[in-house]
Amino acid sequence: MDHFQYRDGNLFAEDVDLREIAKEVGTPVYVYSSATLKRHFRVFQEAFDGLDALICFAVKANSNQAVLKTLAQEGSGADVVSGGELKRALLAGIPAQKIVFSGVGKTPDEMRDALKANIKQFNVESEAELEVLNAVAEGMGMIAPVSVRVNPDVDAKTHAKISTGKAENKFGIPWVRVSRVYERIAELSHLKAVGVDVHIGSQLTDLGPFEAAFKKVVDLVKNLRVQGHDIQHIDLGGGLGIPYDPEEETPPSPGAYGAMIGKVLGDLDCSIILEPGRLIAGNAGILLTSMLYEKESENKVFYILDAAMNDLSRPAMYDAYHDIIPVKEPSNVGSDQSNLVSADFVGPVCETGDTFAKSRTTSPMMAGDLAVIKSAGAYGAVMASTYNSRALIPEVLVSEDKFSVIRKRQSIEDLINLDQVPDWLAEE
Ligand SMILES: *Cc1c(COP(=O)(O)O)cnc(C)c1O
Repeated sequence: MDHFQYRDGNLFAEDVDLREIAKEVGTPVYVYSSATLKRHFRVFQEAFDGLDALICFAVKANSNQAVLKTLAQEGSGADVVSGGELKRALLAGIPAQKIVFSGVGKTPDEMRDALKANIKQFNVESEAELEVLNAVAEGMGMIAPVSVRVNPDVDAKTHAKISTGKAENKFGIPWVRVSRVYERIAELSHLKAVGVDVHIGSQLTDLGPFEAAFKKVVDLVKNLRVQGHDIQHIDLGGGLGIPYDPEEETPPSPGAYGAMIGKVLGDLDCSIILEPGRLIAGNAGILLTSMLYEKESENKVFYILDAAMNDLSRPAMYDAYHDIIPVKEPSNVGSDQSNLVSADFVGPVCETGDTFAKSRTTSPMMAGDLAVIKSAGAYGAVMASTYNSRALIPEVLVSEDKFSVIRKRQSIEDLINLDQVPDWLAEE
């Protein structure tokens, strides 16, 4: 459930009319709902009521300081994948002891920053990384808490670009080497193994692959303990999907996911860490855009929006479906479909891939109309680029009848001023 609903003929974010945001801030603009963020966090947390669980929001899904602060106030931790995200999480007030550091390519500088901050754990993804982390910790006279990210060789059955748990993916340590890697950790003086980590992919709409992977991990923990390793927690990653297209996808509820995990863990006596990203932020945000032009080709109608693939790249990158609805409530509700048309929603960028939706059945729109691209709160703003010299667009956070710009629109001058012309090119 989200807080973007029609009221008296127009789309609102909580108690704020989206037309008002468009008027004050301009379009395109990302709009997030505090109430939806909080609700998603709480529902997820409640799903693990009986378990010793720490929820670490995957910062890569949405790293705006105001979003992180909203979640920090709900008690969220953070899963970070870079030094930049670590800084963002700490600045937003997430306690270091609730931060885990994932990712296949941590640099020594990033490791040092994380050790200095005293984070909860490093999710280590390779044997080479272990050796470097040990050396860095030794140089600081510290012991680094580590979990090994294992690759369970399970097919997540999600889009190839967001599947991470198969042997052929770059993530995690191959299953057959895991036990040797924990032995190596025991030999290294400045590492301490505290857990096991797994993350098999994103936008999973079926519990089966999760269950298969988690069962393997539970067996692994038992074996590692027999071998003398003090495994205290399991990090089960993120990846639970959301309904982008409610008619196509019915992902399991957080409750069903939590119940499955409780069952798989049994009496293992392990605390768990969960790293949801999309589930918390995805449907808590929309991309508000205006239609610039309607264009008819031989057998198609194009609705050309002012938002483009550089602002929201998921459709171009993952062939992702996003619902698109007009801000003015369509009159043809219910069974009357006679008024509907088929249109391609596209952006202004000079790429055929700059298409948000193909042959989408929609109520007719006109130039100047406002539209909303739904489910854009995760992997939206964070993946934006300035391709075609389109400046980064603003983000707005709504809370009840208030709204506030939480990232201002980049000016084209700011963007251009990042370039530097060498002296030898400067004119006299
Ligand atoms: C991306 C990622 C997540 C979050 O995935 P969602 O599908 O957004 O829940 C969690 N953990 C790791 C290690 C990731 O790379």
